[in-house]
Amino acid sequence: MEKTGTYFKSNYEESRKTFRNHLDTIKLKWPQAVLSSEVIGQEDDNTIDVIYSPAVTSNQQVLFFTTGEHGIEGHAGAGVLHLFVDEYLDQVDPETTGICLIHALNPWGMRHFRRVTENNIDLNRNYFYNQSSVAEEVNRNYAKERDLFLPNGKINDLKEEKRKLYIELGKALAREGYGGITKAKGMGQFEFRRGVYFGGNDEEESTAFLKEWQKKLLSTYPRVIHMDWHTALGPANEMTMVVSEHDSREEKELKSDYQIKNIKKFTPTDVKGDSTNHFHKVQQELYPETYLFSALFEFGTFGTSKKAELREFTTMILENHMYWGGAEQEEDAQWILDEFQAMFYPDDANWREAVVKETRAGIESVLGREGILAVNQFK
Ligand SMILES: [Zn+2]
Repeated sequence: MEKTGTYFKSNYEESRKTFRNHLDTIKLKWPQAVLSSEVIGQEDDNTIDVIYSPAVTSNQQVLFFTTGEHGIEGHAGAGVLHLFVDEYLDQVDPETTGICLIHALNPWGMRHFRRVTENNIDLNRNYFYNQSSVAEEVNRNYAKERDLFLPNGKINDLKEEKRKLYIELGKALAREGYGGITKAKGMGQFEFRRGVYFGGNDEEESTAFLKEWQKKLLSTYPRVIHMDWHTALGPANEMTMVVSEHDSREEKELKSDYQIKNIKKFTPTDVKGDSTNHFHKVQQELYPETYLFSALFEFGTFGTSKKAELREFTTMILENHMYWGGAEQEEDAQWILDEFQAMFYPDDANWREAVVKETRAGIESVLGREGILAVNQFK
């Protein structure tokens, strides 16, 4: 219980300070480790921080953790980094294993408790192997539902706003069915700058930055083991591993390989511009000899029922609406912000306890299986 509290910080600066302090701990095992801070975006002092070290004697494999691709989700992600440094570093062999930990891929979003970047871009829809691969049809589903997804003026009365939203949602469901709506969400959109799930028309600085690291690690190590930490998706208070279709194993096989209860596979037709997909694509095209394990790890909040999905939609849409148009009433604004936090970084002891427990299990099964943790050394 006590420990759990220390892993979850209340703001970006505290979280970053804690992360930077991990350098001293890591240097005890990897004396060459360095911390670098990359300034991102227009506002001052938003940085992506990286602690990196090659292996001490031979670069046989690298452990790669990324957090905060979706801004606000980085608060839990930073807790995972902290937990790993505290509890698992001793089990990694620095002689053969490099280490690369990234804090806050989207620092502006993490600072402002938004999921997107300061350009309203969902970074996990912004990774394209080549730009022409964004099909026209991607926007079509979304454009049909523009009344639903696009913000429209100020929120004067939240109750009334929700009522309108449910009417629009009802109409959209009648037209497209449930699948049509979730498809518009998953694929993102590349046309409406102020809309939810915007993937952007240009590459974000954060995207270019992560792509460089993906290439650097794939070109330096024969084995790259990557865990990308997120929140919200999947059953509440449980971890879900999300795997790209580039991993040829079936869900059933993955479940037995990693002993993880919740596993989801997705394809680029479900989700466009995803960063782990990009990682796999680069590996296959440019570094075919390199072994890559790369997956997303999500800590569920609202759950997976239809009711929970509607709550997610409402939360995403209202938060975006308020960002662009503002809210007349202070209490309406607070309600929306609280709901958004409940979706991505709940201030709830049960959830936080579950994150810690699930993280331990996830790290042990994935990094044990992938040979990063010397699991047998004490047996
Ligand atoms: Zn996410």
